[in-house]
Amino acid sequence: MEFDGQVIAAFGRHLLLKVADGRELNARPFGRQLAVVCGDRVRCRLDAHHDEAHVLSIEKRASCLYRSNARGEAEPVVANLTLLLVALAPLPQPDFFVVDRYLCAASSAGLDTRIIVNKCELEVEPAVRAELQAYARAGFELIECSARSELGIAALRSACGGAVAALVGQSGVGKSSLVRRLVPQADIATGELVRATDGRHTTTTSRLYELAGGGRLIDSPGVRDFAPALAALEPRSLGFIEIAQLAPQCRFSDCRHMREPDCAVRAALESGAIHARRYESYRRLRRMTEDLAEPRHPRGGGSAGRRRGG
Ligand code: GDP
Ligand code: ZN
Repeated sequence: MEFDGQVIAAFGRHLLLKVADGRELNARPFGRQLAVVCGDRVRCRLDAHHDEAHVLSIEKRASCLYRSNARGEAEPVVANLTLLLVALAPLPQPDFFVVDRYLCAASSAGLDTRIIVNKCELEVEPAVRAELQAYARAGFELIECSARSELGIAALRSACGGAVAALVGQSGVGKSSLVRRLVPQADIATGELVRATDGRHTTTTSRLYELAGGGRLIDSPGVRDFAPALAALEPRSLGFIEIAQLAPQCRFSDCRHMREPDCAVRAALESGAIHARRYESYRRLRRMTEDLAEPRHPRGGGSAGRRRGG
């Protein structure tokens, strides 16, 4: 007999499913080809001993975030999210290119986004404040909060209401602290899953948590700072929402917004309607995607390959 379930935890090939009657069931993919991730809705069958389910197929994903694996291929990280929370903080010094890459990955995957400014009880440098205002002007919603003082945590919780969210951002911005605020039971649940699967490395465990405010959060150390795959970006705008808005006004329908004539994006850059640093991120990401498409340019092994030698 076949039945449906949702993957609520993934630990390598060990999966935990939630089935229709609310029960949780251990499972594993049936066949090597099936790359099942947390959040997936799956079709399954019980194995001969009825103590484990075999996942036969994955239902079409409403959304999927991809990371680049060691071979530079796009590999699913988490499925069926509706919201990506991109966290930053006054300290460590924000790397806005990292923030932009997450925002672009999210909009390319059709996800809603919020920029989470954590540690808001700390002073924000004017330069950082100016960047945050530029995000707001570009159409992003910001939530200021503090995992330490609990300021803004209610707003964060309510942003997650009705959503399936994940929290990402550079190391040290307070993601683990925020997750502990949002899901006090998180540590316990992860601990149980690790014990259940021989206590191997924890970084691949992703888990879907029900939040008190009605939302859900998929979290794991491997999701919190994954490197989004370039190949999964929307090809025309690379996921920059303000560029996607202007692109239909460019002369060429395949305009890359680099040096083409009558480019609405370049015009907006010159008039100041597009923020110069956001455009710089766009250019950097554009070069990286072109490097990926034309591997004849040898790269130095780092993640930020340059298209031209000098
Ligand atoms: P992660 O690497 O993003 O998961 O960040 P952590 O949650 O491990 O936090 C990194 C450091 O920032 C820790 O020392 C936390 O105690 C601290 N931290 C987290 N949230 C806040 C906050 O709201 N305010 C302040 N001042 N420190 C925080
Ligand atoms: Zn253009």
